[in-house]
Amino acid sequence: MNHSARNVDAAEIAKFEALAERWWDPKSEFRPLHDINPLRLNYIDERVSLKGKKVIDIGCGGGLVSEGMARLGATVTGIDLGEAPLAVARLHAQKDGIDVEYLNITAEEVAAERAGQYDAVTCLEMLEHVPDPGAVVAACAKLVKPGGQVFFSTINRNPKAFALAIVGAEYILRLLPRGTHEYAKLIKPSELAGWARDAGLQLKDTCGMQYNPFTANASLNRDVSVNYLVHCIKAEA
Ligand code: SAH
Repeated sequence: MNHSARNVDAAEIAKFEALAERWWDPKSEFRPLHDINPLRLNYIDERVSLKGKKVIDIGCGGGLVSEGMARLGATVTGIDLGEAPLAVARLHAQKDGIDVEYLNITAEEVAAERAGQYDAVTCLEMLEHVPDPGAVVAACAKLVKPGGQVFFSTINRNPKAFALAIVGAEYILRLLPRGTHEYAKLIKPSELAGWARDAGLQLKDTCGMQYNPFTANASLNRDVSVNYLVHCIKAEA
């Protein structure tokens, strides 16, 4: 399929392809994702009770969330457009004997094929890399069953987020490669809430995620000024 006709920015995919082999190295560029992983998995599991549930993870990358949910007993599909991250994800799951279905497909394409099939949909740290995030939100809403749950996480767009998530993380601390996040693509909670509502999702919770790179400590609270998580429910039919 022609990439330009899909909701994808090839330069964004290339960024993650280049780093993919280090995805499961907790000291690599992916360290922040490793450090927040238990917290976000717990947030999802508390709301979904993952055991026995059918879940799809949009923009799964190397599979930290997909595999984590599978370990908690969910039947998981992870989708991404980066072949190298998917290869790393498949290898890691296989090595550990964890069963996860990994597919190279867009959110919109898989939503056309599997509408209404999932108890829960997760789309974490992905929307800020996509040309039309609202269309991905709509695809997530389409994938979930009526009454099912959808989770998003991304980075807010304001001067503090610019200072911490871009200048601090990429230029001062060098936690992430320069250019990982582009300011204009960051997303305000009000924008995400609008797309979710337009897609027929009800907002249940928005919570801030604080990450301290010096202590590796991550926590959830009310401060959504930088990183945040959103929990939605699709209305019963
Ligand atoms: N969700 C994972 C990975 C986040 S990194 C986690 O939080 O641990 C962002 C991922 O989004 C990368 O793997 C990248 O390849 C993927 N991505 C970017 N644009 C995409 C698109 N249009 N469709 C699917 N995946 C995309």
